[in-house]
Amino acid sequence: MTDVVVVGAGQAGASVVAKLRAEGFAGTITLIGAEKVPPYQRPPLSKAYLLGDMAQERLYLRPAGFYADQDIALRLDTRVVAIDPAAQTITLTGDETLRYDHLVLATGAHPRTLPAAIGGTLDGVYAMRDLADADALAPELVAGRQVLIVGGGYIGLEAAAVAAKRGLRVTLVEMADRILQRVAAPQTSDYFRALHRAHGVTIRESVGLDRLLGDTRVTGARLTDGTELSIDFAIVGAGVTPATVLADSAGLHVGNGITTDSHGRTSDPHIWAAGDCASCLFHGNRIRLESVGNAIDQAEAVALNIMGRDLPYLPKPWFWSDQYDCKLQIAGLNTGYTHVHLRKGETPGSQSHWYYRGADLLAVDAMNDPRNYMIGKRLIEAGRSPDPALIIAPATDMKALLTA
Ligand SMILES: Cc1cc2nc3c(=O)[nH]c(=O)nc-3n(C[C@H](O)[C@H](O)[C@H](O)COP(=O)(O)OP(=O)(O)OC[C@H]3O[C@@H](n4cnc5c(N)ncnc54)[C@H](O)[C@@H]3O)c2cc1C
Repeated sequence: MTDVVVVGAGQAGASVVAKLRAEGFAGTITLIGAEKVPPYQRPPLSKAYLLGDMAQERLYLRPAGFYADQDIALRLDTRVVAIDPAAQTITLTGDETLRYDHLVLATGAHPRTLPAAIGGTLDGVYAMRDLADADALAPELVAGRQVLIVGGGYIGLEAAAVAAKRGLRVTLVEMADRILQRVAAPQTSDYFRALHRAHGVTIRESVGLDRLLGDTRVTGARLTDGTELSIDFAIVGAGVTPATVLADSAGLHVGNGITTDSHGRTSDPHIWAAGDCASCLFHGNRIRLESVGNAIDQAEAVALNIMGRDLPYLPKPWFWSDQYDCKLQIAGLNTGYTHVHLRKGETPGSQSHWYYRGADLLAVDAMNDPRNYMIGKRLIEAGRSPDPALIIAPATDMKALLTA
């Protein structure tokens, strides 16, 4: 009997175990998660769930009976504290050891926190990674209160949108010279800055947080330009770091994430990795993706390779974000782009930004434009790069580009 043990009961961990059983894997499967709740989707934590529009039950990835029905041993509220690769065992809190033939690391990522020295550990300062974080934050969202959001990435912006919709006064600070600088072109930053400002959010770019103020609970913030704000609470959306401590101390190769080969295997032949914690190969470059799509696809590839299918994993990056009534959908990876071309959509506020490196189409950001998102995604996956003059021309039949 082959024993598979999966560390981390999140999106990737849940996908590995489900795929193994769906493909007829007959060995034992153990899924171990540090959180108290069964695997759930994280994206709604900064969107519909935080807004109060989605019940907790709807977050769960599988119905309650799924794991028992599939003969998957789900061990919640349990942390793996060590791996012994030579003995092929792991140690859990409480010193229990488990043996594995294949171990999958699906440990996700940790939100960056602010140091205690600048007030990061005061009460009223929230991270946004887990259900527990969202549940702790939700009661603070009371109309009329003042919130400071630190970080203008997707999670900070989504939190700003939820808070503004709930009637709070929102200030967002981004120390880079524009929001979304790490992930998107200036045109996309401009679109979302305007959207947030139209909803009354104060966006301050090129301004960082100097420190949070307060004795035990945060009451204010001083910004790097010397401005002082009076605030009721703060949300930190300063990005994540991959959860690699276990892998590191087991002697696995770790760079920006746990290094995996083209098949999802780490530097140890019996240990695999998938999801936010793993780095993988993409057209010869090493990348690490933080997205649901990647967590599922990479985890499923690992499951198939554990079963000996010998399938290389080629990421097909896609992502989305919901802010107010705007759905942003992104296909591809824009790293190294040289030009961005704008295509206006058919309805007000609908548009897409097409990223090219020279003549090569790399990625598309589509705002309330699902049709062009889908066309862009299919073009990128097929390795096709239409002439940008066609992209910007209103008369172009975009669907025809798929077969041109
Ligand atoms: C608020 C929020 C909004 C997001 N929105 C989007 C979105 O709109 N679109 C999108 O594509 N992606 C979004 N993401 C990203 C997406 O949720 C992640 O990429 C995805 O969850 C990664 O899955 P994962 O399994 O790798 O990690 P996770 O889902 O983080 O799961 C990792 C699990 O491993 C557990 N764990 C870690 N170490 C141990 C250990 N030693 N022992 C036991 N358990 C351990 C953790 O507790 C955690 O439960 C969002 C993320 C957040 C936090």
